[in-house]
Amino acid sequence: MKRQIKVGDIKIGGGAPISIQSMTKTDTRDISSTIRQIKELERSGCEIIRVAVKDFETAEAIRAIKRKINLPLVADIHFDYTLALCAIENGADKIRLNPGNIYKEDEIKEVVKLAKKRKIPIRVGANSGSIRNKGKSAAESIVKSVIDYIKILERMDFYDIIVSLKASSVLSTIEAYKLFSKKSKYPLHLGVTAAGPASTGIIKSSIGIGALLLDGIGDTIRVSLTGDPVEEVIAAKSILQALELRSFGPEIISCPTCGRCQVDLKRIAKELDARCLMLDARKSKQALRIAVMGCEVNGPGEAKEADIGIACGKSSGVIFKKGKIVKRVREKDIVKELLKLLIP
Ligand code: SF4
Repeated sequence: MKRQIKVGDIKIGGGAPISIQSMTKTDTRDISSTIRQIKELERSGCEIIRVAVKDFETAEAIRAIKRKINLPLVADIHFDYTLALCAIENGADKIRLNPGNIYKEDEIKEVVKLAKKRKIPIRVGANSGSIRNKGKSAAESIVKSVIDYIKILERMDFYDIIVSLKASSVLSTIEAYKLFSKKSKYPLHLGVTAAGPASTGIIKSSIGIGALLLDGIGDTIRVSLTGDPVEEVIAAKSILQALELRSFGPEIISCPTCGRCQVDLKRIAKELDARCLMLDARKSKQALRIAVMGCEVNGPGEAKEADIGIACGKSSGVIFKKGKIVKRVREKDIVKELLKLLIP
Protein backbone atom coordinates (compact mmCIF):
# COMPACT_ATOMS: atom_id res chain seq x y z
CA MET A 1 0.00 0.00 0.00
CA LYS A 2 1.14 3.52 -0.76
CA ARG A 3 2.14 5.99 1.91
CA GLN A 4 -0.66 8.42 2.82
CA ILE A 5 -0.42 12.18 2.50
CA LYS A 6 -2.96 14.90 3.27
CA VAL A 7 -3.89 17.88 1.15
CA GLY A 8 -5.97 20.11 3.37
CA ASP A 9 -8.36 17.55 4.82
CA ILE A 10 -8.32 15.20 1.80
CA LYS A 11 -6.29 12.04 2.29
CA ILE A 12 -4.40 10.60 -0.69
CA GLY A 13 -3.02 7.06 -0.76
CA GLY A 14 -2.88 4.49 2.03
CA GLY A 15 -6.35 3.13 1.26
CA ALA A 16 -8.14 6.51 1.04
CA PRO A 17 -10.82 6.81 -1.68
CA ILE A 18 -9.35 7.87 -5.02
CA SER A 19 -9.87 11.62 -5.11
CA ILE A 20 -10.79 13.85 -8.03
CA GLN A 21 -8.79 16.89 -9.01
CA SER A 22 -9.13 19.61 -11.58
CA MET A 23 -7.41 22.85 -12.46
CA THR A 24 -8.91 26.29 -12.98
CA LYS A 25 -8.69 27.82 -16.42
CA THR A 26 -9.21 31.41 -15.35
CA ASP A 27 -6.41 33.93 -14.92
CA THR A 28 -5.70 33.30 -11.22
CA ARG A 29 -5.22 37.07 -10.73
CA ASP A 30 -8.91 37.47 -11.59
CA ILE A 31 -9.90 36.45 -8.08
CA SER A 32 -13.69 36.57 -8.44
CA SER A 33 -13.76 34.54 -11.69
CA THR A 34 -11.37 31.99 -10.17
CA ILE A 35 -13.49 31.64 -7.03
CA ARG A 36 -16.63 31.27 -9.19
CA GLN A 37 -15.03 28.49 -11.22
CA ILE A 38 -13.74 26.69 -8.12
CA LYS A 39 -17.23 26.77 -6.57
CA GLU A 40 -18.74 25.38 -9.77
CA LEU A 41 -16.13 22.61 -9.78
CA GLU A 42 -16.82 21.84 -6.14
CA ARG A 43 -20.55 21.54 -6.89
CA SER A 44 -19.80 19.10 -9.70
CA GLY A 45 -17.70 16.86 -7.45
CA CYS A 46 -14.12 18.17 -7.59
CA GLU A 47 -12.22 17.47 -4.35
CA ILE A 48 -8.86 19.20 -4.85
CA ILE A 49 -8.29 22.26 -7.01
CA ARG A 50 -5.07 23.49 -8.62
CA VAL A 51 -4.38 26.99 -9.85
CA ALA A 52 -1.63 28.23 -12.15
CA VAL A 53 0.87 30.50 -10.38
CA LYS A 54 2.78 32.41 -12.99
CA ASP A 55 3.84 35.53 -11.09
CA PHE A 56 3.82 37.11 -7.64
CA GLU A 57 0.45 38.74 -8.13
CA THR A 58 -0.99 35.25 -8.70
CA ALA A 59 0.82 33.75 -5.73
CA GLU A 60 -0.57 36.52 -3.54
CA ALA A 61 -4.09 36.04 -4.96
CA ILE A 62 -4.11 32.60 -3.30
CA ARG A 63 -4.75 34.21 0.07
CA ALA A 64 -7.98 35.90 -1.06
CA ILE A 65 -9.12 32.83 -3.03
CA LYS A 66 -8.55 30.50 -0.09
CA ARG A 67 -10.75 32.64 2.15
CA LYS A 68 -13.78 32.01 -0.10
CA ILE A 69 -13.45 28.33 -1.04
CA ASN A 70 -13.77 24.99 0.72
CA LEU A 71 -11.52 22.84 -1.47
CA PRO A 72 -7.84 22.31 -0.72
CA LEU A 73 -5.82 24.46 -3.10
CA VAL A 74 -2.67 23.39 -4.95
CA ALA A 75 -0.29 25.96 -6.42
CA ASP A 76 1.16 24.95 -9.78
CA ILE A 77 4.70 26.29 -10.02
CA HIS A 78 7.13 26.33 -12.92
CA PHE A 79 10.50 28.02 -13.55
CA ASP A 80 10.71 30.22 -10.45
CA TYR A 81 11.05 28.57 -7.03
CA THR A 82 10.40 31.88 -5.24
CA LEU A 83 6.80 31.70 -6.52
CA ALA A 84 6.47 28.45 -4.58
CA LEU A 85 7.71 30.19 -1.44
CA CYS A 86 5.21 33.01 -1.97
CA ALA A 87 2.33 30.57 -2.65
CA ILE A 88 3.11 28.66 0.56
CA GLU A 89 3.27 31.90 2.55
CA ASN A 90 -0.15 32.76 1.15
CA GLY A 91 -1.76 29.51 2.29
CA ALA A 92 -1.40 26.94 -0.54
CA ASP A 93 -2.25 23.45 0.73
CA LYS A 94 0.16 21.74 -1.65
CA ILE A 95 2.82 22.75 -4.15
CA ARG A 96 3.40 21.17 -7.51
CA LEU A 97 7.00 21.43 -8.70
CA ASN A 98 8.09 20.41 -12.18
CA PRO A 99 11.49 18.66 -12.16
CA GLY A 100 11.93 19.85 -15.74
CA ASN A 101 12.13 23.52 -14.86
CA ILE A 102 12.90 23.84 -11.13
CA TYR A 103 15.89 21.59 -10.71
CA LYS A 104 18.67 23.46 -8.90
CA GLU A 105 19.24 21.68 -5.61
CA ASP A 106 19.61 24.83 -3.50
CA GLU A 107 16.33 26.19 -4.91
CA ILE A 108 14.45 22.95 -4.26
CA LYS A 109 15.81 22.93 -0.72
CA GLU A 110 14.37 26.38 -0.03
CA VAL A 111 10.90 25.18 -1.05
CA VAL A 112 11.22 21.96 0.94
CA LYS A 113 12.31 23.85 4.04
CA LEU A 114 9.18 26.03 3.95
CA ALA A 115 6.81 23.17 2.99
CA LYS A 116 8.14 21.21 5.95
CA LYS A 117 7.60 24.14 8.29
CA ARG A 118 4.03 24.62 7.04
CA LYS A 119 3.41 20.85 6.97
CA ILE A 120 2.21 20.76 3.37
CA PRO A 121 3.04 18.16 0.72
CA ILE A 122 4.87 18.62 -2.56
CA ARG A 123 3.87 16.98 -5.80
CA VAL A 124 6.82 16.07 -7.95
CA GLY A 125 4.98 16.57 -11.20
CA ALA A 126 6.95 15.47 -14.23
CA ASN A 127 5.66 15.91 -17.77
CA SER A 128 7.07 14.36 -20.92
CA GLY A 129 7.04 17.81 -22.54
CA SER A 130 9.46 19.36 -20.05
CA ILE A 131 11.80 16.52 -19.15
CA ARG A 132 15.53 17.30 -18.94
CA ASN A 133 17.26 13.90 -18.76
CA LYS A 134 16.67 11.87 -21.85
CA GLY A 135 16.64 8.13 -21.11
CA LYS A 136 16.03 5.18 -23.42
CA SER A 137 12.30 5.82 -23.64
CA ALA A 138 9.97 8.66 -22.68
CA ALA A 139 8.75 6.58 -19.74
CA GLU A 140 12.26 5.83 -18.46
CA SER A 141 13.27 9.49 -18.76
CA ILE A 142 10.29 10.62 -16.70
CA VAL A 143 10.85 7.96 -14.04
CA LYS A 144 14.56 8.74 -13.75
CA SER A 145 13.94 12.44 -13.43
CA VAL A 146 11.35 11.90 -10.68
CA ILE A 147 13.50 9.47 -8.72
CA ASP A 148 16.50 11.83 -8.79
CA TYR A 149 14.26 14.63 -7.59
CA ILE A 150 12.78 12.61 -4.77
CA LYS A 151 16.30 11.80 -3.52
CA ILE A 152 16.91 15.52 -2.98
CA LEU A 153 13.70 15.79 -0.94
CA GLU A 154 14.49 12.68 1.07
CA ARG A 155 17.99 13.93 1.87
CA MET A 156 16.19 16.73 3.71
CA ASP A 157 14.00 14.20 5.55
CA PHE A 158 10.98 15.27 3.55
CA TYR A 159 8.60 12.45 2.71
CA ASP A 160 5.32 14.31 2.28
CA ILE A 161 5.51 13.59 -1.41
CA ILE A 162 3.08 12.73 -4.18
CA VAL A 163 4.18 11.96 -7.70
CA SER A 164 2.88 12.30 -11.24
CA LEU A 165 4.58 11.08 -14.39
CA LYS A 166 2.42 12.32 -17.23
CA ALA A 167 3.02 11.89 -20.93
CA SER A 168 0.78 12.90 -23.81
CA SER A 169 1.09 9.35 -25.14
CA VAL A 170 -1.25 6.99 -23.34
CA LEU A 171 1.16 4.06 -23.64
CA SER A 172 4.15 6.03 -22.30
CA THR A 173 2.01 7.29 -19.42
CA ILE A 174 1.00 3.76 -18.46
CA GLU A 175 4.58 2.51 -18.80
CA ALA A 176 5.99 5.34 -16.68
CA TYR A 177 3.51 4.89 -13.82
CA LYS A 178 3.98 1.11 -13.81
CA LEU A 179 7.75 1.44 -13.77
CA PHE A 180 7.71 3.99 -10.98
CA SER A 181 5.12 2.15 -8.94
CA LYS A 182 7.39 -0.90 -8.72
CA LYS A 183 10.15 1.25 -7.25
CA SER A 184 8.31 3.53 -4.86
CA LYS A 185 5.74 3.78 -2.09
CA TYR A 186 4.78 7.39 -2.72
CA PRO A 187 1.13 7.97 -3.69
CA LEU A 188 0.39 8.69 -7.31
CA HIS A 189 -1.55 11.44 -9.04
CA LEU A 190 -2.69 9.96 -12.37
CA GLY A 191 -3.32 11.74 -15.63
CA VAL A 192 -2.59 11.78 -19.32
CA THR A 193 -1.21 15.23 -20.08
CA ALA A 194 -2.48 17.44 -22.91
CA ALA A 195 -5.07 14.77 -23.76
CA GLY A 196 -6.91 17.10 -26.14
CA PRO A 197 -10.54 18.18 -26.48
CA ALA A 198 -13.30 16.18 -24.79
CA SER A 199 -14.01 14.03 -27.87
CA THR A 200 -10.57 12.37 -27.76
CA GLY A 201 -9.29 13.48 -24.37
CA ILE A 202 -11.90 11.56 -22.39
CA ILE A 203 -11.05 8.38 -24.29
CA LYS A 204 -7.28 8.78 -23.85
CA SER A 205 -7.69 9.60 -20.15
CA SER A 206 -10.10 6.73 -19.57
CA ILE A 207 -7.73 4.25 -21.15
CA GLY A 208 -4.61 5.59 -19.43
CA ILE A 209 -6.08 6.23 -16.00
CA GLY A 210 -8.42 3.22 -16.22
CA ALA A 211 -5.68 0.74 -17.14
CA LEU A 212 -3.57 1.89 -14.20
CA LEU A 213 -6.43 1.90 -11.70
CA LEU A 214 -7.36 -1.62 -12.78
CA ASP A 215 -3.81 -2.62 -11.85
CA GLY A 216 -4.24 -1.03 -8.43
CA ILE A 217 -2.03 1.94 -9.34
CA GLY A 218 -3.16 5.49 -8.59
CA ASP A 219 -4.47 7.46 -5.64
CA THR A 220 -5.90 10.65 -7.12
CA ILE A 221 -6.84 11.50 -10.70
CA ARG A 222 -7.08 14.47 -13.01
CA VAL A 223 -8.60 14.26 -16.48
CA SER A 224 -6.96 17.02 -18.58
CA LEU A 225 -9.23 18.38 -21.30
CA THR A 226 -9.11 21.37 -23.60
CA GLY A 227 -12.49 22.63 -22.50
CA ASP A 228 -14.73 23.28 -19.52
CA PRO A 229 -13.08 21.92 -16.33
CA VAL A 230 -16.49 20.69 -15.15
CA GLU A 231 -16.25 18.14 -17.99
CA GLU A 232 -12.96 16.95 -16.48
CA VAL A 233 -14.65 16.29 -13.16
CA ILE A 234 -17.64 14.52 -14.72
CA ALA A 235 -15.27 12.34 -16.78
CA ALA A 236 -13.19 11.53 -13.69
CA LYS A 237 -16.33 10.53 -11.78
CA SER A 238 -17.45 8.34 -14.68
CA ILE A 239 -14.06 6.57 -14.78
CA LEU A 240 -14.16 5.82 -11.05
CA GLN A 241 -17.80 4.75 -11.17
CA ALA A 242 -17.29 2.51 -14.24
CA LEU A 243 -14.46 0.74 -12.41
CA GLU A 244 -16.72 0.43 -9.35
CA LEU A 245 -14.13 2.21 -7.25
CA ARG A 246 -16.51 4.94 -6.13
CA SER A 247 -20.16 5.73 -6.56
CA PHE A 248 -21.47 9.21 -7.28
CA GLY A 249 -25.11 8.48 -7.91
CA PRO A 250 -27.33 6.55 -10.30
CA GLU A 251 -25.78 5.04 -13.42
CA ILE A 252 -27.76 5.08 -16.67
CA ILE A 253 -27.57 2.05 -18.91
CA SER A 254 -29.19 3.05 -22.19
CA CYS A 255 -29.23 1.32 -25.53
CA PRO A 256 -27.83 3.03 -28.67
CA THR A 257 -31.31 2.80 -30.33
CA CYS A 258 -31.91 1.46 -33.82
CA GLY A 259 -34.72 1.14 -36.33
CA ARG A 260 -36.81 -0.80 -33.83
CA CYS A 261 -37.07 2.07 -31.36
CA GLN A 262 -40.42 3.88 -31.36
CA VAL A 263 -39.79 6.57 -28.71
CA ASP A 264 -37.38 9.52 -28.54
CA LEU A 265 -34.91 7.58 -26.40
CA LYS A 266 -32.08 10.09 -26.91
CA ARG A 267 -34.18 12.81 -25.28
CA ILE A 268 -35.31 10.49 -22.46
CA ALA A 269 -31.75 9.36 -21.63
CA LYS A 270 -30.39 12.92 -21.84
CA GLU A 271 -33.10 14.33 -19.59
CA LEU A 272 -32.65 11.53 -17.08
CA ASP A 273 -28.88 11.97 -17.11
CA ALA A 274 -29.24 15.69 -16.41
CA ARG A 275 -31.68 15.02 -13.57
CA CYS A 276 -29.31 12.40 -12.07
CA LEU A 277 -26.45 14.91 -12.17
CA MET A 278 -28.65 17.28 -10.19
CA LEU A 279 -29.18 14.48 -7.67
CA ASP A 280 -25.39 14.37 -7.33
CA ALA A 281 -25.38 18.02 -6.43
CA ARG A 282 -27.80 17.15 -3.65
CA LYS A 283 -25.25 14.58 -2.44
CA SER A 284 -27.23 11.55 -3.55
CA LYS A 285 -24.73 8.70 -3.52
CA GLN A 286 -27.14 5.90 -4.46
CA ALA A 287 -25.33 3.35 -6.62
CA LEU A 288 -28.47 2.56 -8.61
CA ARG A 289 -28.48 1.26 -12.17
CA ILE A 290 -31.24 2.65 -14.36
CA ALA A 291 -31.81 0.84 -17.64
CA VAL A 292 -33.35 2.86 -20.47
CA MET A 293 -33.99 0.50 -23.36
CA GLY A 294 -35.54 1.24 -26.74
CA CYS A 295 -37.56 -1.90 -27.44
CA GLU A 296 -38.54 -5.38 -26.42
CA VAL A 297 -35.37 -7.12 -27.85
CA ASN A 298 -32.98 -6.43 -24.95
CA GLY A 299 -35.22 -4.03 -23.12
CA PRO A 300 -37.05 -6.26 -20.65
CA GLY A 301 -33.87 -8.26 -19.92
CA GLU A 302 -31.69 -5.20 -19.17
CA ALA A 303 -34.50 -3.41 -17.38
CA LYS A 304 -34.98 -6.43 -15.12
CA GLU A 305 -31.22 -6.67 -14.37
CA ALA A 306 -31.02 -3.03 -13.30
CA ASP A 307 -32.45 -1.60 -10.09
CA ILE A 308 -35.08 0.21 -12.09
CA GLY A 309 -35.63 0.34 -15.81
CA ILE A 310 -37.84 1.01 -18.72
CA ALA A 311 -38.39 -1.16 -21.78
CA CYS A 312 -40.04 0.98 -24.43
CA GLY A 313 -42.63 0.10 -27.02
CA LYS A 314 -44.72 2.29 -29.33
CA SER A 315 -44.86 5.75 -27.68
CA SER A 316 -44.87 4.09 -24.26
CA GLY A 317 -42.82 1.90 -21.95
CA VAL A 318 -43.01 -0.70 -19.20
CA ILE A 319 -41.26 0.23 -15.95
CA PHE A 320 -39.49 -2.47 -13.96
CA LYS A 321 -38.23 -2.31 -10.40
CA LYS A 322 -35.95 -5.05 -9.06
CA GLY A 323 -37.04 -7.33 -11.89
CA LYS A 324 -40.79 -6.80 -11.44
CA ILE A 325 -43.14 -4.86 -13.73
CA VAL A 326 -44.36 -1.77 -11.90
CA LYS A 327 -46.51 -0.10 -14.55
CA ARG A 328 -46.93 0.87 -18.17
CA VAL A 329 -46.45 4.60 -18.84
CA ARG A 330 -46.84 6.98 -21.76
CA GLU A 331 -43.68 8.24 -23.47
CA LYS A 332 -44.08 11.77 -22.14
CA ASP A 333 -44.26 10.51 -18.53
CA ILE A 334 -41.25 8.14 -18.64
CA VAL A 335 -38.66 10.46 -17.00
CA LYS A 336 -41.12 11.70 -14.38
CA GLU A 337 -42.18 8.15 -13.44
CA LEU A 338 -38.60 6.84 -13.25
CA LEU A 339 -37.61 9.75 -11.04
CA LYS A 340 -40.53 9.02 -8.73
CA LEU A 341 -39.04 5.56 -8.12
CA LEU A 342 -35.60 7.07 -7.64
CA ILE A 343 -36.65 9.67 -5.09
CA PRO A 344 -39.84 8.31 -3.52
S1 SF4 B 1 -32.81 -2.39 -27.28
FE1 SF4 B 1 -34.07 -2.41 -29.12
S2 SF4 B 1 -34.05 -0.28 -29.82
FE2 SF4 B 1 -32.36 -0.51 -28.43
S3 SF4 B 1 -30.63 -1.00 -29.77
FE3 SF4 B 1 -31.46 -2.94 -29.00
S4 SF4 B 1 -32.86 -3.59 -30.59
FE4 SF4 B 1 -32.48 -1.40 -30.96
